[in-house]
Amino acid sequence: MAKRFDKSYKIVYNKEIRANYFELKIEAGDVCKYCFPGQFFMISVPNVFLRRPFSICSADVKEKCVSFLYKVVGKGTKNLSDIKLGTLQLLGPLGKGYDLKLQVGSREDRKKTDDFSNVIVAGGTGIASVYFLALRLKKRGVLYYGAKSKSDLLYMDKFMEIGWKVLVATEDGSKGYKGYITDMLSRRLKLNDRIFVCGPIPMLEKVLQIAKKRSVSGFASLEAKMACGTGSCQGCAVKIDGQNKMTCKDGPVFRIEQVEL
Ligand SMILES: Cc1cc2nc3c(=O)[nH]c(=O)nc-3n(C[C@H](O)[C@H](O)[C@H](O)COP(=O)(O)OP(=O)(O)OC[C@H]3O[C@@H](n4cnc5c(N)ncnc54)[C@H](O)[C@@H]3O)c2cc1C
Repeated sequence: MAKRFDKSYKIVYNKEIRANYFELKIEAGDVCKYCFPGQFFMISVPNVFLRRPFSICSADVKEKCVSFLYKVVGKGTKNLSDIKLGTLQLLGPLGKGYDLKLQVGSREDRKKTDDFSNVIVAGGTGIASVYFLALRLKKRGVLYYGAKSKSDLLYMDKFMEIGWKVLVATEDGSKGYKGYITDMLSRRLKLNDRIFVCGPIPMLEKVLQIAKKRSVSGFASLEAKMACGTGSCQGCAVKIDGQNKMTCKDGPVFRIEQVEL
């Protein structure tokens, strides 16, 4: 049974690591044991009505700390970025994360391939959710990472340090391939790849289209706008296999073949 906590945690630091991008680290004690890649916390922010959702970027059981990576985009994230010391009220861990054990692909597909290769596709701040995944996936693979510009690329060195190959695309061509990362994915994707994707909706749409066309399976993490984070308000409904599901409670991670964007 998944455990969830609504507690006040001490801030270790909340620092700007790049213009408008912040890393928040909190002392989470034994709560770390209950955190899985793809899950998130709702963070209370001063002077905004609703808590804001943020993916767990890492949860270190030995260090007993949880980290987040976020971009300042509005009032909530601006107010959060102004807090440097003290405590923060967090609700979580919430949602269903990536299933690291689940075999994907049809039985026939699996017979055709010896093994699966892990492929992570990330866009923008989606990199936070998949970094925790990259740390926990025993079999390292390839990260396809897309951003508007070089200045929006974060954590590339961290992925390489833990053994991931990193392929990059920027829309303005300031780093790597000029264009969309999905163009690179489309050219290189193989039948035995298993995709894990987190990023903005247009990117997700394209990845799902590519994956479904080639019958490649995997998991997509959706970042719908949400208010409660627990399924009560039903504000983050998404169509999964023809049925309404709550991104916060039933997701945010779903099987690629079931998502209808
Ligand atoms: C499950 C989940 C995990 C998330 N993880 C992260 C993370 O790790 N790092 C991170 O930086 N952000 C993450 N987000 C997005 C983050 O929650 C929003 O950026 C934040 O709530 C914006 O609050 P705000 O008050 O600053 O902006 P607002 O004033 O509420 O909005 C400012 C702008 O951001 C857009 N926006 C707001 N919420 C979202 C959203 N959920 N998805 C896309 N656009 C949005 C609005 O449309 C608007 O254009 C996550 C969202 C979800 C649902």
